[in-house]
Amino acid sequence: MIEAPKGTRDVLPDEIGRWQFVEECARETFERYAFREIRTPIFESTELFARGIGEGSDIVAKEMYTFHDRKGRSVTLRPENTAPVARAFIEHQMHRAPGLQRMYYIGPMFRYERPQKGRMRQFHQIGVEVFGSDHPAVDAETLEMLMAFLGRLGLDDAELALNSVGDPVCRPVYRKALLAYLEPRRDTLCEDCRRRMADNPLRCFDCKVEADRAVMARAPAITDYLCAACREHFGRVTEYLRAYGIRHRLDPRLVRGLDYYRRTSFEVTLQGLGAQNALLGGGRYDGLIKELGGPEVPGFGFAVGEERLVMSLPAAAAVSRGTPEIFIATVDERGVERALLVARALRRVGRRVVFDPLPDKSLRAQLRRANDLQVRFVLILGETEVRERAVTIKRMSDGSQETIAEDRVGARLAEMAGA
Ligand SMILES: [Zn+2]
Ligand SMILES: [Zn+2]
Repeated sequence: MIEAPKGTRDVLPDEIGRWQFVEECARETFERYAFREIRTPIFESTELFARGIGEGSDIVAKEMYTFHDRKGRSVTLRPENTAPVARAFIEHQMHRAPGLQRMYYIGPMFRYERPQKGRMRQFHQIGVEVFGSDHPAVDAETLEMLMAFLGRLGLDDAELALNSVGDPVCRPVYRKALLAYLEPRRDTLCEDCRRRMADNPLRCFDCKVEADRAVMARAPAITDYLCAACREHFGRVTEYLRAYGIRHRLDPRLVRGLDYYRRTSFEVTLQGLGAQNALLGGGRYDGLIKELGGPEVPGFGFAVGEERLVMSLPAAAAVSRGTPEIFIATVDERGVERALLVARALRRVGRRVVFDPLPDKSLRAQLRRANDLQVRFVLILGETEVRERAVTIKRMSDGSQETIAEDRVGARLAEMAGA
């Protein structure tokens, strides 16, 4: 038997309703804020991620699905989608359009993770990017949209944590202070952190090793090193959030390792997921477009793992949508053609109809199947019905039956469904 590759899984029809619910909430919410969808390719030049995420990052160093195509070009299955969206922004010269560009995406991402940690190698993200303004109102409005989205999903215990990671003016000063703190502790840190110290000590905040996390918890806070402009920006963001009445927590150790992040950095946690299990993260990345060879254009965005959203949905949101309402039962071969035509007529007026052409099955077996499907009505095309161009409608809620002319079925079902 051939199984799905390690680290991948099928989303089966029985669970798809929850995924569709999440995606519909995302689309509807984001579009109210003038975001539009963008679909970028599943694979990109490897160089895009090497430059956009950074050679030294764990993603690029250890987790990418990189291969050579038949012409020897190095391509990579996208491990995230901010760099591809930024690439598209530059390639299509979207900075020339007036105003801000707001985009969202929904789709699969790929990282070569160790599956025993419960991480998937193909996972799904919903994300947004705003390009064109570094105004703190962009940060606040996008965060408000995010919290509205989570609220619509019923994730009311979502907690927003916020920080500023400075900019090229003040971050070097902080970096120095952080290094001065880390140097005497070098020997106690893990190998990864010692490498990070040389490369980008801010990445030590990403470390998952318990002892290192304790060391980082006492490290100097970046908020004490912000320049006046960054302090002002951060102050405005939190002011707007207070005006919205959005609860948030300031977390001076929320430092994102990626080089292009500037100023606002945030994450959202859910009670159920635990402190280390952030539901999502994001922030401002004013340096990215330039880094990728584009003009100086500021950006802000977030990405959330769809698996986690689906998993965290309250049970009440277990929507089943698109399930059939009407089941057609036949007793012999002569009923099949009538069934096909009746089903088409009903579908043309918007009904969801299921007809399983298994006329050898007893009527009783077909009714059991209709019951399992939880349809509201069964249409029976028995011998008499077929001869007289009639249909018997059985209402499943009370078992009542009536036989009417075939061409009146649609109208009668509409009456009965309304009642
Ligand atoms: Zn470490
Ligand atoms: Zn600054």
